[in-house]
Amino acid sequence: MSTPQPVRVRFAPSPTGRTHLGSGRTALYDYLLARQTGGQFILRIEDTDQKRYVPGAEKELMESLHWLGLNWDEGPDVGGANGPYRQSERREIYQQHARQLIESGHAYYCFCSPERLDKVRQGQMSLKQTPRYDGTCRRLDPDEAARRVANGERHVVRFRMPVEGAITVHDHLRGDITVENANLDDYIIVKSDGLALYHLAAMVDDHLMNVSHVIRGSEWLSTFPLHGHILRAFGWQEPVWVHLSIFLKPSGKGKMSKRESAQIMQDGYSIFVNDLAELGYLPEAVVNWIALMGWSYDDRGEFFTMDDLVEKFSLDHLNPAPAAINFTKLDHFNGLHIRSLPPAELSRRVKPFLQAAGYVVNDEKLLKIYPIIRERLSTLDDIVPMAGFFFKGDVFPDPKELVGEKMSPSESAIAARCAYQILDALPEIGLQTAEPPMRQLAEELGLKAGQLFGILRVAVTGQKVSPPLFESMEIIGREQVLNRLQRAIKLLDGL
Ligand code: GLU
Repeated sequence: MSTPQPVRVRFAPSPTGRTHLGSGRTALYDYLLARQTGGQFILRIEDTDQKRYVPGAEKELMESLHWLGLNWDEGPDVGGANGPYRQSERREIYQQHARQLIESGHAYYCFCSPERLDKVRQGQMSLKQTPRYDGTCRRLDPDEAARRVANGERHVVRFRMPVEGAITVHDHLRGDITVENANLDDYIIVKSDGLALYHLAAMVDDHLMNVSHVIRGSEWLSTFPLHGHILRAFGWQEPVWVHLSIFLKPSGKGKMSKRESAQIMQDGYSIFVNDLAELGYLPEAVVNWIALMGWSYDDRGEFFTMDDLVEKFSLDHLNPAPAAINFTKLDHFNGLHIRSLPPAELSRRVKPFLQAAGYVVNDEKLLKIYPIIRERLSTLDDIVPMAGFFFKGDVFPDPKELVGEKMSPSESAIAARCAYQILDALPEIGLQTAEPPMRQLAEELGLKAGQLFGILRVAVTGQKVSPPLFESMEIIGREQVLNRLQRAIKLLDGL
């Protein structure tokens, strides 16, 4: 097997909103490829569209990537030999390259006003033609155009698309894509504010940053031929292009929309990476989950750590078919990864959730709780309803909940009294010591074990659902268990 060449990949988000799963997946694939081949992962901020700029988006983005464990080798914060890594700081570089394209005849200045362009567009639409630039400034004498620019006339720069022939660009997942040039427009590559558009800026940057593989969303497929033209106009080598599949709604019917993402949040999930942290998901689980949205290893392999993924990931196993976001799968992976965490690590992760709910957490006790809850946690915040009571000085059961299933209060009080007597005689209360006599007691009283255990559970934990009863009693401690049971008897007597 030949050793893979080190790749240079870049994740190039626009800071125009929150960081969603799709971005997380693109960045993950970039990262995996870089780490697998000993290459570099670059973070480049594509912030040339000032109208869509959202303050704070870059910060959230970096936090989300760090949370996922995707650290970059070059970027606006860490620097690198190919900076600056924010496109807004590379204005001159793009202008210089735009001039180069103008000089070589591959681009031209365009002075058409938005009003005129609008009229042209409307005319074309009324004739049922595809709207496109009508080529007015394409025919201008270059010297005259240069004079008008020097006089300060408002202008953009357009790519001079060949009118004949076709272009073939190659996508790693989809193969060759051939488009007739006549179907392509004279796209704007520099706006009237002097800032380059994505089409030019990204091509220039990918070249200057020596990017070998471009992994991006398939929304760029339609302008992919233009990008091929730009690279060829400069005479640059093309990277390996990979356009990833799109994400569909959980139902699999249609693309994700704003309304859909609001509904997802109402259901207690989110498509935004940093919300998932707050919802109690592990980054390991999210990474595992998104890795498999568009990539698979084999029919069986499902559980992957980051190290596994670095070893196994391959561009050759990507799937171009759209992937439905499946949160049930996320819950499943979260459970698996929770159970694979060492005790001290799981305790460290659940602790902030208990603290946020107002509990003062004793680390030693938390470690004792670990074995009885790890099988039951689907998300980290499940710890609060499940085990918060361990950190309360006392619990206050609702007297009515103390009544056993299909039993009267007095029958329940009798059962609790008998249980108390037996437990009180035990030197220690735990699974080994208490469960057998309690089962026996239930039988003697003609009760199902669940009926008796239900009473005891509410009495000692204050809630109807808890981790296993006798292990919980062991952690709560003999004295507390007996006190709580005695109080429960009084409460039952009072009903
Ligand atoms: N700024 C582009 C976006 O956020 C990046 C596309 C690319 O990776 O080239 O969609």
